[in-house]
Amino acid sequence: MITARTAQEIHSWVRRWKSAGQRVAFVPTMGNLHQGHLELCRQAAIKADRVVVSIYVNPLQFGEGEDFEQYPRTLEQDRLRLTRESVSLLFTPTDEVIYPHGKRASTQVVVPELSDILCGSSRPRHFIGVTTVVAKLLNIVQPDVVLLGEKDFQQLYLIRRMVEDLFMSPQVIGVPTVREADGLAMSSRNSYLDAEQRARAPALYRCLRRLRERLQAGERDIAALEQQGREYLTAAGLRPDYISIRKAASLAPLREPDGEELVILAAAYLGETRLIDNLRVMP
Ligand code: AMP
Repeated sequence: MITARTAQEIHSWVRRWKSAGQRVAFVPTMGNLHQGHLELCRQAAIKADRVVVSIYVNPLQFGEGEDFEQYPRTLEQDRLRLTRESVSLLFTPTDEVIYPHGKRASTQVVVPELSDILCGSSRPRHFIGVTTVVAKLLNIVQPDVVLLGEKDFQQLYLIRRMVEDLFMSPQVIGVPTVREADGLAMSSRNSYLDAEQRARAPALYRCLRRLRERLQAGERDIAALEQQGREYLTAAGLRPDYISIRKAASLAPLREPDGEELVILAAAYLGETRLIDNLRVMP
């Protein structure tokens, strides 16, 4: 596995591979790799001849008072994990590579409206940071396909929209959420949880499953279901940020199911740690 830090190095490797007729897949991450990330790498290796992974903790997507400083940085362990996967190239850019004129002065990529709902309402500007850095990374790597986790459903949705709106060429592939045995979605932020919080955390997924069962049983009052979800989380010792049942294809809210696929999205706090999860509900 090659490690590169500059855009020029990435360009020259990818150009070499593409001119040999090879397909290139890209997996952007913030590192502290777990099985969820590794599943993206494995799916990438199925879709393409060459897999490029980036590890970059993007300062632009963290708000004031968020966990940018404490975000786990485990590069050597990550590198070791990736050497056991079919990854050709690890891209570990510095802030100077990604934001050569400083992050405040950088050109930004904004997907309006959809960046301000759900996670965007409690994390203002977060998704501007995400779409901006992913646009930069896609322009550097120029992959044939980019793989993203469904765990970050809104992020996946926004990146699909950005790629479509800006006529970017990569195919965007969503990979189902990888979970711990007790259902908790794997996340680098799970390491912030103490033992008691970790024991409570699977209630988030249980709550989503319970709401899905109610929907599948024919319950039609979306607002009442969302309220039940908040109560469930509170009773389980979590502090709900939001629970929202929306159309999976558009993230549009709805009052009653209309036969389209739905997605139940939730964010909740355990202490200072904010966990997110979602579950799709087939009609
Ligand atoms: P992150 O390092 O948290 O920015 O995540 C990098 C990529 O991995 C994103 O596309 C995430 O959606 C994806 N990802 C994170 N956790 C999981 C998981 N548990 N299952 C599947 N994909 C995940």
